[in-house]
Amino acid sequence: MHEMSITQSVVDICTQNAAGRRVTAVVLEIGELSGVVPDAIEFCFEACTRDTLLDGARLLIERVRARGRCRDCKAEFALSSHYAPCPACSSFGVDLLSGEELRVKELEVE
Ligand SMILES: [Zn+2]
Repeated sequence: MHEMSITQSVVDICTQNAAGRRVTAVVLEIGELSGVVPDAIEFCFEACTRDTLLDGARLLIERVRARGRCRDCKAEFALSSHYAPCPACSSFGVDLLSGEELRVKELEVE
């Protein structure tokens, strides 16, 4: 399962950063276009953290809005998909500015 291995690597990152301390909360940033399902991460989190430094830690997930910039007219706008054209000039030359992130933003340790 995709989300299970993602959650496992998040737990690994947190464990390394905690350096032996107990983790009480984790803030995770997940981009709208990352393809990662937050509910599935939450579901896996409990199983992945059992008997680790993160056991019982709260998981807070922040969704990151997807934004793009048009290469032709330089307009910036909210993106609904990877293949959405520029709303100003209909160009498909759109650079993704945000929305694909999956990262540990904050770690709360004891
Ligand atoms: Zn444009």
